[in-house]
Amino acid sequence: MSNVLIVGETKNGELKKISKELSTAGRKIADALGGKVIALVIDDKSDAISGELKAVGADVIVNAKASEFNPEGFANIVSAVAKAKSATIILMPHTPQGKDYSPRVAIKCNAGIIADTVGLSVDGGKVVGKKPIYSGKAYGNFKLTSDVQIFTVRPNSQEVIEKAGEGVVEASSEGFGDVKVKTISTDASGGSKVQLTEASIIVSGGRGIKGPENWPILQDLADTLGAALGASRATVDAGWIPHSHQVGQTGKTVSPNCYIACGISGAIQHLAGMGSSKYIVAINKDGDAPIFKVATYGVVADLFEVVPALTAEFKKVLG
Ligand SMILES: Cc1cc2nc3c(=O)[nH]c(=O)nc-3n(C[C@H](O)[C@H](O)[C@H](O)COP(=O)(O)OP(=O)(O)OC[C@H]3O[C@@H](n4cnc5c(N)ncnc54)[C@H](O)[C@@H]3O)c2cc1C
Repeated sequence: MSNVLIVGETKNGELKKISKELSTAGRKIADALGGKVIALVIDDKSDAISGELKAVGADVIVNAKASEFNPEGFANIVSAVAKAKSATIILMPHTPQGKDYSPRVAIKCNAGIIADTVGLSVDGGKVVGKKPIYSGKAYGNFKLTSDVQIFTVRPNSQEVIEKAGEGVVEASSEGFGDVKVKTISTDASGGSKVQLTEASIIVSGGRGIKGPENWPILQDLADTLGAALGASRATVDAGWIPHSHQVGQTGKTVSPNCYIACGISGAIQHLAGMGSSKYIVAINKDGDAPIFKVATYGVVADLFEVVPALTAEFKKVLG
């Protein structure tokens, strides 16, 4: 029997979708291995928001309190709860926050860790983590040999499936403990209206947009679809848009349902950041552009004609 601890994530007092994705993934693993799903939410408002996890498989919901993120403090709480609940499998979000403190949890739990998984399955009593390798050119399947196993999971890579767990709610008295890391100040990134790494649709622009004055053409499509605005490194390096929008090897890794690449050639370093998107739509006037090799739908045309036409049609359909 293996209890699965899933570590939720919040923003501005709301539960992020990745928390439900982890709970669903945890439920499948616990059903296969015969354990319970323990969901941990660390937030001042955890009592009010964590109950949502019952509907997506959580058997026990542990509410811990924290008024701000602290990587050392969060790692102390997660590892203490994992030990108290005899959790041998820990699923954490592969978000900037999760990436920050999951290695600390691994050290505290003497666990192995597989980061950035996009698929989880069970084989021979062990969890198998599927993750992109060689900058997204291939996928590898990995098992851990350690007693405690940690997997960080890429947002949007797991479905959210309604399947009620027992949903017993518990308050945790665990706190940060004696931490050496202190937050001195926080600067908002000034990034997209919709968070890039969480978005289910991304409209992204490359050098083909010609200049920063043309972002409103893509932003209009993004706003119509409720999408986030992404960018290639060429546009970031040119100073057309802040780095917080960059997708790729040296930018953000995204996995939306739909990635609309406008005037992006599809260099391997860009594909490394968006290759696991469910549907890829490429708009490029060069029919030989590498982006078409990974595109689900390709439009060989001038983006300045296609994007406004698409926006107008979506506005008609979506009101
Ligand atoms: C170590 C390293 C790390 C890197 N990390 C990243 C990264 O994280 N993210 C990233 O994106 N890149 C990264 N790069 C850079 C990458 O190699 C490419 O240079 C970059 O992705 C190219 O950006 P682009 O597609 O916007 O520009 P280009 O390659 O110049 O492509 C522009 C495309 O626009 C098309 N186009 C032009 N006009 C129109 C039009 N009117 N309508 C439609 N299409 C049009 C062209 O046909 C062309 O295909 C990295 C490179 C290195 C060496």
